[in-house]
Amino acid sequence: MAVVKANAYGYGMVEIARAAVSAGATWLGVATLDEALAVRARLSQNIPILVLGYVAPEYLSVASRYNITVTGVSVEWIQEAARIVQQPFNFHLKIDTGLNRLGCKTIDEVRTVMTIISLNPNLNCTGIFTHFATSEDMQNKSYFHRQLASFYDFLDVIPNRTDKIIHCANSGATLYHPEKPFFDMVRLGKALMGPPNEALKYLIPFELQHTFSLHSILDVVKQLDANEKIGYGGEYMTTEKQWIGTVPIGYADGWHQQFKTSYVLVGGKRVPIVGRISMDQLTVALPQEYPVGTRVTFIGRQGNETIIADEIAQKANQPRSEVFSSLSNRLPRVYI
Ligand code: PLP
Repeated sequence: MAVVKANAYGYGMVEIARAAVSAGATWLGVATLDEALAVRARLSQNIPILVLGYVAPEYLSVASRYNITVTGVSVEWIQEAARIVQQPFNFHLKIDTGLNRLGCKTIDEVRTVMTIISLNPNLNCTGIFTHFATSEDMQNKSYFHRQLASFYDFLDVIPNRTDKIIHCANSGATLYHPEKPFFDMVRLGKALMGPPNEALKYLIPFELQHTFSLHSILDVVKQLDANEKIGYGGEYMTTEKQWIGTVPIGYADGWHQQFKTSYVLVGGKRVPIVGRISMDQLTVALPQEYPVGTRVTFIGRQGNETIIADEIAQKANQPRSEVFSSLSNRLPRVYI
């Protein structure tokens, strides 16, 4: 399964879905029914789509009409679905083995769900899955192993298990624990989007390539005198004559205030962002004058210098996928 939720982590949901399907993905995973409908409307193949998040039971008729599989998130959800649903719909039952968000938490709950299903032919349980909390933690794997062992215990009480798609592994589980037989399907999000982190490069037998870059331009370049303030709040003050470039990217594009200590590349050199990042633009301190239109690289390579998203994420103390998925739709995506 290619997980393409949240605009495919910022990469562009429909384009990544198409690329993943043509590369062999047999399922797509999204977070909401709206995302599922958007993919369904734009992809020609009638590929199975699983909504990994909550779908209100009153929308099950829509899911069913568009052949979208939803997630059974709790006993209460199944009861409500059984009460109101008028037509058959497909769902995968989520088991909570320790993430403590969605899913049935006890064997008794799963037994209750199985009884409700056996009494209502509209409730078509076509899959069983769980999700790991710590699959990327290579120092301490015990919680991961506990969750996996618990999943096996739950599977023991599922009737007609072989009719169902069983799945549990996200990118971390799949790539960090390649020795595990992960049932019928793995659900890859991050791993589709380039190397999840530097450490992972050494664990897999082939090289992953960075697949994303973010570029803009200098739209105004000017020389300021010493003691001039830049940007809202006048947070940055020049100490000497200084070339300053303005770049048309701001926090409404997803380049948050937390990234203001990060660098960008101009003319093959790292240059600092200075002053407060505003909604639509930010300013950089240049070592010399550059022509308007000069490329500014936020993520990517210029000459011998490279900035990867992990660097931005680490400085801002965020996961890398938060950097990508925050990049707004205002930024045009170009696929090459
Ligand atoms: N499966 C589920 C249920 C998820 O919620 C997610 C992402 O949050 C994924 C799979 C994909 O995870 P990853 O990006 O770590 O591969």
